[in-house]
Amino acid sequence: MVRSTYDNRNGYLNTQMIRENTKKQAYRRSVAGKPDAGGKPDLRGLTLPEISRIVEEMNEPAYRAGQITSWVYKKAVGSFEEMTNLSRSFRAELSDRTCLNPLTSVQRSKSRHGPTTKYLFELGDGQKVESVLIGGSRRNTLCISTQVGCAIGCRFCASGLEGLVRNMTTAEIVDQVVQVRKLAGDTRPINNIVVMGMGEPLANYRQVLRAVRIINADWGLGIGARKITLSTSGLVPKIYQLAEEKIQFELSVSLHAADDRTRTSIVPVNRRYPLKQLMKACRHYTGSTDRIITYEYVLLKGVNDRFQDAENLVKLLKKDKCKLNLIPYNPVHGLPYERPDEHRQAAFVEALQKGGLQLTMRRERGRDIDAACGQLRLAESRKALEG
Ligand code: SF4
Repeated sequence: MVRSTYDNRNGYLNTQMIRENTKKQAYRRSVAGKPDAGGKPDLRGLTLPEISRIVEEMNEPAYRAGQITSWVYKKAVGSFEEMTNLSRSFRAELSDRTCLNPLTSVQRSKSRHGPTTKYLFELGDGQKVESVLIGGSRRNTLCISTQVGCAIGCRFCASGLEGLVRNMTTAEIVDQVVQVRKLAGDTRPINNIVVMGMGEPLANYRQVLRAVRIINADWGLGIGARKITLSTSGLVPKIYQLAEEKIQFELSVSLHAADDRTRTSIVPVNRRYPLKQLMKACRHYTGSTDRIITYEYVLLKGVNDRFQDAENLVKLLKKDKCKLNLIPYNPVHGLPYERPDEHRQAAFVEALQKGGLQLTMRRERGRDIDAACGQLRLAESRKALEG
C-alpha cells in the first residue's frame, strides 16, 4: 500500500498519491455504484471485506470493520457521530473516505384492512421510491425497489408508466431494509424480503446482487438466503447468469400469460424473449440450482383470466417443478385493466387445480393504500405536478 504524502494545507500531491487516488476512485465507482457528490462510497453499500480494506488503509485494527458494519447495518445509525465506540479522530478520517446518506422517509401509509404499511423514501437526488411492509400471521415481508421507474413497461403497472429514471445504488437498495426495520420497530421484525417493488431487478443486476448479499450476510442484515426472493419479468440472459452464481436466493418470474400473443400485449419484453426461450432459461435455472421457481400471474379481467388461459397455463407448467402464485389485479388510476370478480377468480383456480397445478392466491392487503407497485410514487409525483 502506498502511503500518502498529501498535504491538505499545501495542496501537494505526489505521483504515487495520484496513482492511489485513481485506484481509489475506480474502486469507489466499482463497489458502490453512484457515490456521493464528493465521490465517496456510501458505507451502507459496502461489504465487510471492503470496509476491512478501508480500515487497513487507515492502519486501524481489523476488528474496527466489524464495529462499523454493526453500527451501519444492525444499529442503523444515520451519522458517524453516533458510532460512539470509535474515536473522534477515527470517525473524522472515516468520514473523509466514506459517506453515510440514509434515505429520508417522506410518507407512510397504513392499510385499514390489515398489517400492510407503505413507505415512500426520498433519495439523495430527490427521486422517490417505495417499499411495502406486508404483515402476516407468522412473517413480515418487505417488498423493496431496485430502480427509479422501470423500462420494461408492463401495460398494467404504475411503475412502468413513466419509464426508467435511473438504477438504484447498492446502498439505496439495502437502506430500504435498514430504514423500515428502524421505523417499524421490534414489534414487526422483517424476516422475509421480496425484490419485487419498483423496477426490473435483473436489469440492475450488479447492484441488486451486491445488495441481497449484504441483506443476507451475518455481518449485514442477517436475513436467510431462502427468505430473499429475486424477481424478473423474464430477462432470459440474466436468468442464465443468475444460475451461474450458485446462490440460494429464491427466484420468481412474472409470467402473467401462457401464450405469446397475450403475454406480449401486457409484458412487452416477451417480444424479445418469448415464452419458449423464457421457459428454457427457467428450466435450466431449476436444473442447475435445484431451486424451484415461483411464477407470478396477475389476473386481469378479460385479458388472461379466460378458460383458454387456464388451459394454456396448465399445458405450459404441468411438467415443471414450480410454484404458481395468482394475484388478483389492483386497478391503477388511468389504466384500462380491471380485476376479475370473485366468481371468475374461483373458476380460474378450479380449472388450474383440475389440470393438476399447485397454486396459491395472494391475499389482498393494502388495496386502500395504493399497494400495487409504483402507485404511491406516481400519486406523489402527480400531486407535485398539479400543486
Ligand atoms: S411490473 Fe415490474 S417489470 Fe413490469 S413495468 Fe412494473 S416494475 Fe417494471
